[in-house]
Amino acid sequence: MDLKLKGKTAFVSGSTQGIGFAIARQLLEEGAIVTINGRKQERVDESVARLKELVHGASVNGIAADFSRREDVSKLIAQLPDVDIPVNNAGIFEPKAFTDITDEEWLRFYEVNVLSGIRLARHYFPKMIGKNWGRIIFISSESAIHIPEEMIHYGMTKTAQLAVSRGLAELTKNTGVTVNSVLPGPTRSEGVEEFIKQLAETQGQTKEQAEADFFKTARPGSLIQRFADVNEIASLVTYVASPLSAATNGAALRADGGLVRSII
Ligand code: NAD
Repeated sequence: MDLKLKGKTAFVSGSTQGIGFAIARQLLEEGAIVTINGRKQERVDESVARLKELVHGASVNGIAADFSRREDVSKLIAQLPDVDIPVNNAGIFEPKAFTDITDEEWLRFYEVNVLSGIRLARHYFPKMIGKNWGRIIFISSESAIHIPEEMIHYGMTKTAQLAVSRGLAELTKNTGVTVNSVLPGPTRSEGVEEFIKQLAETQGQTKEQAEADFFKTARPGSLIQRFADVNEIASLVTYVASPLSAATNGAALRADGGLVRSII
């Protein structure tokens, strides 16, 4: 299937590894012109080089910007004033007991996971409406629906993304612009490897035990009973980015391994 992404420009926040890197790779394979992002220039440069190796003829570059710093986001927008497909993927997660989460951490999670996408949309969304085409995609989580007891602050940010996404979609009426969210379930990214390590430490278990327990106790409803591969998330995102997905707007699309027990 030709996803008709050739020549479209895309920006993927937090794409030096994990789900973001896989999204950047698939968009490049479809012929999009992609800007990747991470916090450190060196890491961004390494990932750009890796993508050029993986995808023959890839048109990819990178901009370092830390989404917890407003001035970094302003600089990023100045460097990249126009983009057809912003993918709000940058996100942080960490298991922590509710009573140990400080005000500063609540605000940091909100800033990196929610305000990041809002700041980009404030700039790019009116431009998309002006040219009558664009795709804004929020990488939320099944944790938006099943708030995880081991990281309520994270769940809060993922639900907030759904509200922003749906709200923005309301403003696209009668245009060629769409705004959607994709909700991955547990996915084997570099960040999740670290998460399982931390979970094992807090529970006094080995990494293997913590991983097995995770599906037995924390996510028993998973129908696939395994971590998804990052490419299994990226392929849905790539479709949503495509002109072919024009009738999908304001949606919260699940790639959650069947975790959310809902028919629609
Ligand atoms: P990851 O930790 O492997 O990768 C995160 C990426 O974001 C990295 O490239 C990192 O450099 C970047 N990043 C982190 N903080 C940043 C900041 N302040 N500014 C700029 N970049 C920053 O994570 P992942 O598992 O690939 O997750 C990606 C997205 O998917 C997140 O929004 C996450 O909430 C969501 N998600 C992940 C899972 C999962 O199980 N992996 C499940 C549901 C949703």
